Amino acid sequence: MSSNQELMARRIAALPRGVGQTFPVFVARAQNAEVWDVEGRRYIDFAGGIGVLNVGHGHPKVVAAVQEQVGRFSHTCFQVLAYESYVAVCERLNRLAPGSSPKKSFLVSTGAEAVENAVKVARAYTGRSAVIAFGGGFHGRTLLGMGLTGKVAPYKTGFGPFPNEIFHAPFPSALHGVSVDDAIAGVEKLFKYDVDPARVAAMIVEPVQGEGGFYVAPADFLKRLRALCDAHGILLIADEIQSGAGRTGTWLAIEHAGVEPDLITMAKSIGDGYPVAAVIGRADVMDAPAPGGLGGTYAGNPVACAAVLAVLDAFEEEKLLERSRRLGEHLTARLRDLAGRHASIAEVRGLGAMVAIELCKDGDPHRPDADLTKALTARAIEKGLALLSCGTYGNVIRILVPLTAEPAIVDEGLDIIAACLAEL
Ligand code: PLP
Repeated sequence: MSSNQELMARRIAALPRGVGQTFPVFVARAQNAEVWDVEGRRYIDFAGGIGVLNVGHGHPKVVAAVQEQVGRFSHTCFQVLAYESYVAVCERLNRLAPGSSPKKSFLVSTGAEAVENAVKVARAYTGRSAVIAFGGGFHGRTLLGMGLTGKVAPYKTGFGPFPNEIFHAPFPSALHGVSVDDAIAGVEKLFKYDVDPARVAAMIVEPVQGEGGFYVAPADFLKRLRALCDAHGILLIADEIQSGAGRTGTWLAIEHAGVEPDLITMAKSIGDGYPVAAVIGRADVMDAPAPGGLGGTYAGNPVACAAVLAVLDAFEEEKLLERSRRLGEHLTARLRDLAGRHASIAEVRGLGAMVAIELCKDGDPHRPDADLTKALTARAIEKGLALLSCGTYGNVIRILVPLTAEPAIVDEGLDIIAACLAEL
């Protein structure tokens, strides 16, 4: 097999530079929270495929279900020749969604597509066009997803213009002095000066911002958004693509706030790496688009559906929500302890096992330290730990280790973070 270096050279010649690559590592195999590269080096995976691997790499149940499905059939296009597993996935996602109103779901292939489709459904139901999103939010790499995304570089650089009728309000952050009152006032200001609320179809919010830096939406903020939506006939879309699927200790992060969204987008960890995403929502809202308005050639592919059903079984059988809560407590305690010893850690924050540290010069939130963050991820990979950064200023280290990771492996990864920080 070629070396990492040889593969890197081939990659640079064959791929455009816009397809970024965080580490000079090419993977040969992976199991649960560990990855081995083509040279046989082992890494602990705290990146979790960017939040895709809540049940870990190659979960035995998922592997068995996928193999069984591939042996029978891999594709028919659900809208042409249907199959039971697609229906079963939707039934189970509907049951897992919070709130008392009856739910319906449909499947697509990526998170960005789920976001696009949630907006389509909201527009079809309300007959309105505008959408409100939040600063620092991330909603995908399609043009509408980019338009909704608050963070500019590198995602949006050079790709505009983006669809119109999108408006951004601030997202609350205690660290940066943006209170819930400020954020709500931001929405009200939009209504006053920029867009008549009677023209707004939906507000889309991440209950915990993923790419934006693991900022948790306070329960009060989500409740007040819900009230504003209700007052103006606007639909509330919870983008749970990164925060959902048990990452925060509940199936969806918005459950912590006791708020029922009208529409929910999910992707990433529902399929354990098989490309599948879902839009889940109030049945009356979901039935607004006309027959044929929703779908796609690969949407809800049967192999991906088999994976989702196995993931959902694993969650129940292995009590992964409970495990997520315990993992979150452990990660938070250890990172807080580390923060006590390193002035550069300005904040440890998160919800459940969606935990991050924000690195700033002398811990000053106005002086984000992207250089230290880069140095930390580079040093960590040398020591065998894959770590991801995020945040508007690239100075947040996020942890998305599989919920199924062995406690000893989690501690080994945390020890590497501590060792790197001590050296830098
Ligand atoms: N929405 C959120 C909250 C995300 O975190 C992401 C991906 O990181 C997306 C949407 C886009 O998902 P995908 O990359 O599957 O298109």
